[in-house]
Amino acid sequence: MRTIAVIGGSLAGISAARALREHGFDGRVVVVGAEDRLPYDRPPLSKEFLAGKAGVDDLALTTDADAGLDLDWVLGEAAAGLAPRGRSVVLASGREIVADGVVLATGARARPFPGDRISGVHTLRSLDDAVALREDLLAGGRLVVIGAGFIGAEVASTARDLGVEVTVIESDPLPLGGVLGPELAAVCTALHEDNGVRLITGTAVTGLAGAGRVREVRLAGGRTVAADAVVAGIGAIPNIEWLAGSGVDHDHRGVWTDAGGATNIPQVVAAGDCTFSYCPYSGIELRQEHWTNALQQPAAAAATLLGKSAIPARPTAPYFWSDQYGARLQFAGHRRPDDDVEIVEGGLDSRRFVAGYRRGGELVAVFAMNQPKLFGKWRRQLVAPAPAAARLS
Ligand code: FAD
Repeated sequence: MRTIAVIGGSLAGISAARALREHGFDGRVVVVGAEDRLPYDRPPLSKEFLAGKAGVDDLALTTDADAGLDLDWVLGEAAAGLAPRGRSVVLASGREIVADGVVLATGARARPFPGDRISGVHTLRSLDDAVALREDLLAGGRLVVIGAGFIGAEVASTARDLGVEVTVIESDPLPLGGVLGPELAAVCTALHEDNGVRLITGTAVTGLAGAGRVREVRLAGGRTVAADAVVAGIGAIPNIEWLAGSGVDHDHRGVWTDAGGATNIPQVVAAGDCTFSYCPYSGIELRQEHWTNALQQPAAAAATLLGKSAIPARPTAPYFWSDQYGARLQFAGHRRPDDDVEIVEGGLDSRRFVAGYRRGGELVAVFAMNQPKLFGKWRRQLVAPAPAAARLS
């Protein structure tokens, strides 16, 4: 194999490029990125960067050591097509990159709210998004956040820090209920109210209104909420449309891969937020839209591409963290609604605790608030649940 094209110039892309070199690949590595900048870190975009506590330089994902990787960067150009059997990548400009192997690492984009073309309506995925949102937050006024998931909650938290009046609207009766279960979601929900956020739950947003600039958010049932800026935190969509006609199996959930990042095309692998992959820990296919997966999955994908063993002996539990209102939330494992949950360290009232989720008596997931050390201790005790579902065919 002489040339490998890595498509996507963010966390999964640079991690794949590093892993290819670590595995001894000494051919040409071309990294194609639609954004016109070197890889940068996204988690601070809703936290320190949005708050003005970190600058652009603090976001850099590449270091001086990466110069030694000898990568060919093609930035500011999106891949527009992949030839059947993955032999070449065609860029939006028409330029073609002929490759012996391809890593798909095109991530995801924020799901827009219908009508988001009105000025003052934001989503948050890129550095440019964060710069535009910060400008509106610094102008003060009233921010409405649509969706109380992790991005929505973090933006609400940072906006409160900046002195902005915040309303969060969530269509589910309990924010994060699907991820954490009702007991623990209730603790996270209380953080909003304790920090002066007006939280409206069980109500869908039906539209946005304003002449030129957003002024009002309309809710089901006819209520309205005044707004000077709006952020839609309503999920992400994998960037996979460019693979149409390539023969690579994918759907709205992402590119289908096995645990080693292999797609159905031998010389094409995928990693990061664009994938819908078999997770050996959970025993099912998942789209893990989390930083740690985008850091680790590329190593397995690179090994697969180079014909090396890619599956770790012990399955790794999915992991993510979130920072909201000064609280550090951490979750690892795989939770199902019928799992038993118990507090194993600390207490809910102190907001310093670790909770364990058990299935058939085994610890399958763990969630912590403000207990990073104890979280690590319990995370090490996780037991992978028995594979529950058939693999993708
Ligand atoms: P992405 O970061 O989405 O990068 C994909 C890259 O591919 C982009 O640069 C994109 O422009 C490019 N691209 C897309 N299409 C093409 C194409 N056709 N051709 C070429 N390039 C293309 N995770 C956590 O675990 N904890 C957190 O606290 C946390 N906070 C977050 C906060 C924010 C605001 C955001 C947006 C994400 C956060 N995440 C967090 C998630 C984490 O950042 C992602 O899981 C991670 O960025 C995924 O990396 P990726 O490389 O797979 O995809």
